[in-house]
Amino acid sequence: MKIINPATEEIIADIPVDDKASIDEKFKKLKIGQKKWAALPVNQRLACIVRFGELVQENIDELAKILTSETGKPLQQSINEIRGAQNRIEHLKSNAEKWLKEELIFEGPTTEKIVYEPLGVIGNISAWNFPYNVGYNIFLYALVSGNAVLYKPSEFASLTGLKFRELLYKAGIPDDVFDCAIGEGTVGNILLETDLDGYYFTGSYKTGKYIAEKVAPKLVPLQLELGGKDPLYIVDDVPDIKQAAINAAEGAFYNNGQSCCAVERIYVHEHIYDTFTAEFVKEVEGYKIGDPIAEGTFIGPVTRAPQIEILLNQITDAKNKGAKVLTGGKKIEGKGYFIKPTILSEVNHNMLVMKEESFGPIIGIQKVKSDEEALALMQDTEYGLTSAVFSSDQSRAEKVLSQLNTGTVYWNCCDRVSPNVPWSGRKNSGLGSTLSYQGIRAFVQPKAYHLRS
Ligand code: NAD
Repeated sequence: MKIINPATEEIIADIPVDDKASIDEKFKKLKIGQKKWAALPVNQRLACIVRFGELVQENIDELAKILTSETGKPLQQSINEIRGAQNRIEHLKSNAEKWLKEELIFEGPTTEKIVYEPLGVIGNISAWNFPYNVGYNIFLYALVSGNAVLYKPSEFASLTGLKFRELLYKAGIPDDVFDCAIGEGTVGNILLETDLDGYYFTGSYKTGKYIAEKVAPKLVPLQLELGGKDPLYIVDDVPDIKQAAINAAEGAFYNNGQSCCAVERIYVHEHIYDTFTAEFVKEVEGYKIGDPIAEGTFIGPVTRAPQIEILLNQITDAKNKGAKVLTGGKKIEGKGYFIKPTILSEVNHNMLVMKEESFGPIIGIQKVKSDEEALALMQDTEYGLTSAVFSSDQSRAEKVLSQLNTGTVYWNCCDRVSPNVPWSGRKNSGLGSTLSYQGIRAFVQPKAYHLRS
């Protein structure tokens, strides 16, 4: 499989891919290794994961360059991601033993307790946009719980996936406990035909739905972390409109808008709409675009070439239906998959840009007259990942947020994930939770003991 640098279109590596025979072999090996791994005490498994975290931080410069070379993520954002993902390991260090301990529920003539047992060998089919964050959410939590993992990195983050494997082995995770499945969707499909004990997927709704249909008859745990069309509502009482615009722009354009929880649509109260929009455009026009390695670059190329057409199609569709392009709206000619950060006004929900996941540097801003109108528009979506409200009034914000059918809600912040609380999508945004104690429980099955002496 050829790995292409999206900033230069150069082939930077050519790596072997897996097939049915190699996947079968890896699976057999993991099936045996998992039993020994599960027999170790949690603190020994945890020690390997902590060491892995140290190795990643020791090699951060090299790892960030690899991530940038295959995804186009600006180098500083690669460093931020690798540093930030460490909080999952700190979280496991403080909590894993406590959450995996057996629980004595009732003592009496028949004593009752729960023991949390691992699932076995789990498959993790993953995305490229934040491979450290979304990878750690699954494979580290699965490993610490005593599972073996067959990890399929995205074809757009395979070099990073192979580095995970190298560093996990260096950290003491046996080679029959973690392995990679390398390749495109066809290799992911082979995983679906393998008898894995659980499937954990991060990616698009379209692939997630397909996987859910394929896995359903197996009756094993399935978890889906899918896309979003995340709304942000700017209330007319924000104390500082310029600051609200800066924060909203970062939420929409960080990682080139390629975050599952990126702000994908903005509703602004009519009292502040003109000022907010002008500040928003000013902020975005100040972003440095270009070589992701260059210091100060905030917007690099999008990772996948075909996404440019999807974004241009959303822009054309919006323009044809009456939207105004306030800035951007075009591909940047030359080498690399670059598109100008694009802001659209005069948008409505008949336009693709307000309904379908964009997953790129493009945003629509719609004027609203009231909280009720904002709420109705925020709810008008197939997705349910995150929603945000910026306001100086917490109870006004919470009144809106409490009525939204999304797994995460934000007041005066956005595009944020924390290991302390569950990360989950509703409707077309997914099924199940990662992170928090729920993120550990996702990888174990409870066994109920009834003990009569
Ligand atoms: P994708 O669905 O194209 O691919 C995801 C993975 O599925 C890849 O590893 C791919 O090779 C594999 N795959 C593709 N077809 C397959 C098939 N038929 N059978 C099995 N595997 C198959 O998604 P992507 O482009 O990698 O990721 C972007 C999407 O992921 C966006 O929608 C984004 O919002 C979402 N995402 C969600 C979260 C979350 O936590 N909710 C986090 C990151 C990304």
